[in-house]
Amino acid sequence: MTADLVRTVAEPSRHCPLCPRLVAFREQWRALEPSWHNAPVPSFGPEDGRLLIVGLAPGLRGANRTGRPFTGDYAGELLYSTLIKFGFATGRFEARPDDSLRLRDARLTNAVRCVPPENKPTTEEMRTCRPFLSATIGRLPHLGAIVALGKIAHDQVLAAHGEKLSHYKFGHGAVHRIGEMVLFDSYHCSRYNTNTGVLTTPMFHAVFAKVRAHLDSLG
Ligand code: SF4
Repeated sequence: MTADLVRTVAEPSRHCPLCPRLVAFREQWRALEPSWHNAPVPSFGPEDGRLLIVGLAPGLRGANRTGRPFTGDYAGELLYSTLIKFGFATGRFEARPDDSLRLRDARLTNAVRCVPPENKPTTEEMRTCRPFLSATIGRLPHLGAIVALGKIAHDQVLAAHGEKLSHYKFGHGAVHRIGEMVLFDSYHCSRYNTNTGVLTTPMFHAVFAKVRAHLDSLG
């Protein structure tokens, strides 16, 4: 475990000042939409679970608006229905933080906690936000599996573990062992990827079927 992984602060403050471009974007949207969350989006789900799912960053009108990861835009529809199907969530997903949906044995976070313009964080912003991901990982004592939604999440998880990126090639459906933990790669469940057929529902389900089988094998 690297020093990053034992850092204790897993959740940035609402006014985290570390990325000037993202702070300016946040302030712009606070002025435009004062009722929105418009702040770093905290992780969601219990800390005693065995699964962590890592996305890229909050969507402007999704998590940045509602304050819960993958809630309020298209990506959440496929993700949460899949989590319910494979027993990682209960309740009903209604795209609102006050719906009855609860995660079970799973936690959900983003590699970058603030919404980036055009959904594209810079390399520097990813690096700056990484300690929060590292701390999030470090606070999961029973962690057995991580699902990385997209290559950026995959790279950030590896970097948080102090692993060389060149040793672990990203690919949809790829599975990597990192010590006691297994990393499962998936294409991101964005509207763009699903609309273009890069990611289909069966492809996404196949990843979570593997995760379920792996965790079940651990007993
Ligand atoms: S992206 Fe992360 S490090 Fe950057 S301002 Fe937001 S919370 Fe802070």
